[in-house]
Amino acid sequence: MTVPLPVPGSLPEFQRMFPDEDACRKYLFAVRWPSGFRCPKCASETAWWRKDGRSVECERKHVTSATAGTVMHKTHLPLLTWFYGAFLTSTLTPGISALQFARQLGLSRYETAYVMLHKLRSGLVDPDRTPLRGRVQVDEALLGGETPGRPGRSHGAKAIVAVAVEIVGYQDTTGRKPGGGHVDRQLREGPPEQHARGDKPARRRERAGRVRLEVIPDASAATLEDFVSRHVAPGATVSTDGWSGYGGLEGLGYAHKVVKQSRKGKSTGQYLPMVHLVISNLKRTLLGTHKGAILPHHLPAYLNEFAYRFNRRFWKAPSFLRALGLSAAPRRPRLEYKRLYAVRKGGDWQHPNPRPSGVPKQTV
Ligand SMILES: [Zn+2]
Repeated sequence: MTVPLPVPGSLPEFQRMFPDEDACRKYLFAVRWPSGFRCPKCASETAWWRKDGRSVECERKHVTSATAGTVMHKTHLPLLTWFYGAFLTSTLTPGISALQFARQLGLSRYETAYVMLHKLRSGLVDPDRTPLRGRVQVDEALLGGETPGRPGRSHGAKAIVAVAVEIVGYQDTTGRKPGGGHVDRQLREGPPEQHARGDKPARRRERAGRVRLEVIPDASAATLEDFVSRHVAPGATVSTDGWSGYGGLEGLGYAHKVVKQSRKGKSTGQYLPMVHLVISNLKRTLLGTHKGAILPHHLPAYLNEFAYRFNRRFWKAPSFLRALGLSAAPRRPRLEYKRLYAVRKGGDWQHPNPRPSGVPKQTV
């Protein structure tokens, strides 16, 4: 049994833990070889850092990389820059833009910051791929496409995002009124209008559980049914609006609840409150942190990051190691600069968003 290494939770803590490159190397070493180094070739337990500061050499001169499989592998930036980058991406709740990131890290090239951020972000893919259960709200949202300074919207750049949110009921015994207007707080505690009335000591309340987000090509029945069947466990109660694309859910083994918008002009938020709080929070994050400047091709990466932060909002510690690619989770594909940029010209890079485990591919 090895004791898990501490991760920095605040800036002073980060500075104390990682004052220089050497401290980062020691930390990296401790994470890679928690029970001490052992040469994979000769089993020697004695090794030194090589001059490159990224690999170690045993007494029989066998070289072992310390950064293989991490975001730092084959990069020229100091480990300290990566560590600080991972600290920023894993602790700032709404995320960070490439421009702010470049300034924070003192990087002169925007492109370097941009690729670094994407690399760190690619580690923040929610590892929990077990399907949503119980009560789930599902809806679609249109994202992006707004062109600042121009009237109207350019529809070509818009993306359709399917959203599924688990609804978790709980007994609140605090007696205080939740809400307070802030969306994040509402997401934790449920929309205020549902439980702000009366003041009984213990009340049954609702909050948003886990979310699943995915860019979908269209809102057809085939696409939406595929989305639901991959992310929601059969037997769950799925609430949607009256769109015909959800008409076949009963046939797929779900209890389907259609939430009708009875009166014109009433926002759907009232009928599917959790899913709409998630969508408005997502839109705020994309507009506030990234000023809406996200290419549709890269939207999946931002959705992954949002879902990761959202599903982990009560539990943040492992993000630092995950961002660096130092967690025990399965290795992700290496993100390369050229492939990342080729995406806009139809390149084949795919942001990680693995198929959830335990849900067979739809056969209907
Ligand atoms: Zn050796």
